[in-house]
Amino acid sequence: MGSHYLFNCPGCGYSAEVSGGPDGGFSSQTETRVCTACREVVDVLVGFREPALIQPEDLNRCPECEGRDLLPWGESRPCPRCNGAMGDPIGPTRLWD
Ligand SMILES: [Zn+2]
Ligand SMILES: [Zn+2]
Repeated sequence: MGSHYLFNCPGCGYSAEVSGGPDGGFSSQTETRVCTACREVVDVLVGFREPALIQPEDLNRCPECEGRDLLPWGESRPCPRCNGAMGDPIGPTRLWD
């Protein structure tokens, strides 16, 4: 069961509803990354429990722009817009899969 949390940036008001780290649902595995093209924190598909269901090229892509300009989201949870710390999340706000 994967769960989403709401992260808010107190500096600029940016918010993202993501897992905040490695997560997994019934069939998929995700990790939270920063897309440098979108300047968004996104959950990226990194694996499937049934490998036959997925093409390798579908993994590690931004769900917004399908790009691969992804960076790990650091421990301090930096905001992709202003680089301030986004702090502790609210939630879980949503359970997925
Ligand atoms: Zn993107
Ligand atoms: Zn910010």
